[in-house]
Amino acid sequence: MTAERDVIVLVITLAAIVLFVVSGGLAVPQAVSEFFFAGHKADNVLLSALLLNIALIIFGWRRYRELRAEIEQRTRAEEQARLLAELDPLTGCLNRRSMAPATEKVRAAAHARGQAVAYCLIDVDHFKQINDVYGHVAGDNALVELCRRFHKVLPEEARLARLGGDEFAIVMPYDRDRPERVDDLVIRLFEQASIPFDLDRVTIEATICVGVTSDDPTEPGEEISAETLMHRADMAMYEAKKQGRNRYFWFEPSMESELRFRNELEIGIRRGLQNGEFEPFYEQQIDLESGDLVGFEMLARWRSPQLGMVSPETFIPVAEEIGLINELSEQLMKQALVDAREWDDSLSLSVNISPVQLRDPWFAQKLLKQMVAAKFPPYRLEIEITESCLHENVGMVRSMITSLRNQGVKVSLDDFGTGYSSFEQLRTLPFDRLKIDRSFIAELRQSEGRSRIVDAIVSLGRGLNLPITAEGVEDETILAALKDMGGLKAQGYIYGKPETADQVRQRLRLAGLLTERGHPLRRSDSTSTAPHEDHQRRIFYP
Ligand code: C2E
Ligand code: CA
Ligand code: CA
Repeated sequence: MTAERDVIVLVITLAAIVLFVVSGGLAVPQAVSEFFFAGHKADNVLLSALLLNIALIIFGWRRYRELRAEIEQRTRAEEQARLLAELDPLTGCLNRRSMAPATEKVRAAAHARGQAVAYCLIDVDHFKQINDVYGHVAGDNALVELCRRFHKVLPEEARLARLGGDEFAIVMPYDRDRPERVDDLVIRLFEQASIPFDLDRVTIEATICVGVTSDDPTEPGEEISAETLMHRADMAMYEAKKQGRNRYFWFEPSMESELRFRNELEIGIRRGLQNGEFEPFYEQQIDLESGDLVGFEMLARWRSPQLGMVSPETFIPVAEEIGLINELSEQLMKQALVDAREWDDSLSLSVNISPVQLRDPWFAQKLLKQMVAAKFPPYRLEIEITESCLHENVGMVRSMITSLRNQGVKVSLDDFGTGYSSFEQLRTLPFDRLKIDRSFIAELRQSEGRSRIVDAIVSLGRGLNLPITAEGVEDETILAALKDMGGLKAQGYIYGKPETADQVRQRLRLAGLLTERGHPLRRSDSTSTAPHEDHQRRIFYP
């Protein structure tokens, strides 16, 4: 509509100019001679036409100026809208949507120069914690600052995008025969991230994980799309996260199959939970002073119809990640409490508790409820938590431990020495026991029974009045060394591999350590513990 009007205005203005030239040529000399020399009277019609022409030209000119201003304004607004759509409003770098075309552009330019491009995906470790602890404003400021620092070290042709949350991506060209240039850049990114962030009264330290990939084909004829690049960088970053953060990986084809396997695991775990495929196994725990069997540690196993027997080291981390660890643990625990109810009252049951479970404020209550339902006395239960639980939320862990201990449940610190618990935590958290990690116990074999670390942990435990269990006792050398130290408990393959509930039952029956509780067909009298003699226990163990 305006366009039509504008055309009309343009035509009128042009016509006016033509008329002005024609009529002006006649009317102006007439008007001048009438005015100055009182000559012939000027032609009024011609004069009016001339004035009208002038008015029209002024009108046209003004309209032209308005039009230009309007167009400029519209172009500016369009440019702003385009920028808003392309840029991340917080950091001002590219956003997820604009990164794909930007990648294609960088790639096309790089290929034209005979170069390849590298695509890096960057994720800030534990960014959620930064947000939770210091607030969202501090979190946002950290992201802006991080973005600024990344920009500082990027080569000119590189592009940086914030894909969302705490995830960034970089695409950069590099010479095919110099991939170390990409490593250099990534190292500089790490350096930038590691400088503490001074934000408004707080100083934040952050680490990042980076996944890197390149479009330099490894196979002849291989065509790598921008989408594949992003997907591969994502897989490499996932690997970096899995390996423990603050590191970077280049994509390797094996990561793809690994990810596929992980998906299979996820599906399998969900199905396995429904079909009751998870089963508790038990590992004996021995008092080295007396040689007595004193209890069992429950170790989860997965009898998968597709994969066979699966180790907890494979499925526990996945169950944790997909939010099924609580359900899994409850299922195993339910079974273990039934199994252990049949054992002699003197035998304890130890269970491993994941840090993820401890985040549930109702964990202690749920555990106690399970024990009540299974009629299992709390004093026979020992839970094992690892040091990694302690740096998540010490306050909550402390109150959880206290409430469990008030009910009679014992709490041990598992895998001691592999994490970062401070002396202060050890002193103030009410643990009942320390378990020395099997990696340290293995040192005893290599160095013929001597290990400074084991010595140190044992004396630390003594100093804090904490009893100690050594795990991973595999042979006589280790056993002899541990016995020498005195007062320890031990567990490990020297006493046999973890066994099924049935195997344990048989073992205990032979040792006279099986009660008749828990079996509906037998007498369910909790006081009818079969009498047993100490030597009966000892005959099984060296
Ligand atoms: P952990 O608590 O340190 O358990 C001891 C692990 O060492 C067990 O492996 C056990 O089979 C193994 N082991 C025992 N004696 C020896 C030995 O003499 N030499 C060697 N080399 N290894 C020995 P497993 O059963 O594969 O369990 C691995 C880890 O999985 C456990 O380490 C524990 O952290 C976790 N886990 C097992 N069951 C559960 C569970 O029900 N819940 C949770 N959250 N974690 C569990
Ligand atoms: Ca354990
Ligand atoms: Ca351990």
